Amino acid sequence: MSEMRYDLLHDEYALIAPERLHKPDCYKSPVRTEETKKRCPFCEGHESMTPPEIFALRENEPNTPGWKTRVVPNLYKAVQIEAAWESREAGIYQAWEGLGAHEVIIDTPRHLTRMDRWSHDEYFNWLFTLRSRINDLKNDFRLVYFSIFKNHGHYAGATQSHPHTQLIALPVVPKRKLDQLERAHRYFLERRHNIFESVLSQELHDRERIVIESDHFVVLCPFASTFAFEVVILGRENTESLIALNDAKLRDLSDVLKQTVEALYVELGDFDFNITFNTPPVQKNIVTEPFFETLPQMWRFALRIVPRLFRLGGFEFGSGVHINPVPPEDAAYLLRSVVEGKA
Ligand SMILES: [Zn+2]
Repeated sequence: MSEMRYDLLHDEYALIAPERLHKPDCYKSPVRTEETKKRCPFCEGHESMTPPEIFALRENEPNTPGWKTRVVPNLYKAVQIEAAWESREAGIYQAWEGLGAHEVIIDTPRHLTRMDRWSHDEYFNWLFTLRSRINDLKNDFRLVYFSIFKNHGHYAGATQSHPHTQLIALPVVPKRKLDQLERAHRYFLERRHNIFESVLSQELHDRERIVIESDHFVVLCPFASTFAFEVVILGRENTESLIALNDAKLRDLSDVLKQTVEALYVELGDFDFNITFNTPPVQKNIVTEPFFETLPQMWRFALRIVPRLFRLGGFEFGSGVHINPVPPEDAAYLLRSVVEGKA
């Protein structure tokens, strides 16, 4: 059973999850080959190798071949839905049983594909599945914060080679996320303006960090990019999260995301990366109550792609300040050139 422990010195949480150690090949690089495909639990035809599915885009029987996306509980979960949300005290310390949901979204039946080779429909089905999972899980009022993330490649933390995404739902809002929400709320109260809108206005004025513009989204390399070739897809309108996007906006997002990923692959080759979604809390509780009703006006949809080209060093860990050798203006220029070259 995992445990969430409170870090008294940093006002942060740590998930102590020994179950994660039992993951097969957890210290090896995942490789996409015909050989790994044979024993891959996420491949079509291997449905019996995973726990029963929670969700699938399919028109036939569950847990059989014939799906487009498939969602299963993570076998090596960091948190579990069966846990009680009870705390224990150990001297000055406090800890809780690791309550939450940990799911694996199998992005596509195709083991050997890369994200730059996905079709428009594969992007749409992937986003549609993620949206469906949040919509379902938010009915559990204990779950407050959702982290959706994709780890691709060894340096990004992936241990399975088959294209997949993960969702961890927690009963608390992590410190870093809460800080960001409180900052956006303060900004909104002081200026009556959405902080993301201010950033977008500045970027659309400067233009040198813009990669793509569509009807509903703007793709840009952030002014203070912490990683080389870091890219953010920002919503143009006050739509605070993935679940607020309708199918038409999801199609538009699929299109800009596909172009962005393809451009990154042209510039960086077969690179490792993380994708994260800027999700706001889904429940009103004692912590989120001060800003919960204001979320639609103060928050925006954002998706972040972080290429993991360099390993993090001691300076980054110790100080929280990242050294990025590629100016975002240069990264945006190169990515924009690829996108415009294809247009
Ligand atoms: Zn596979």
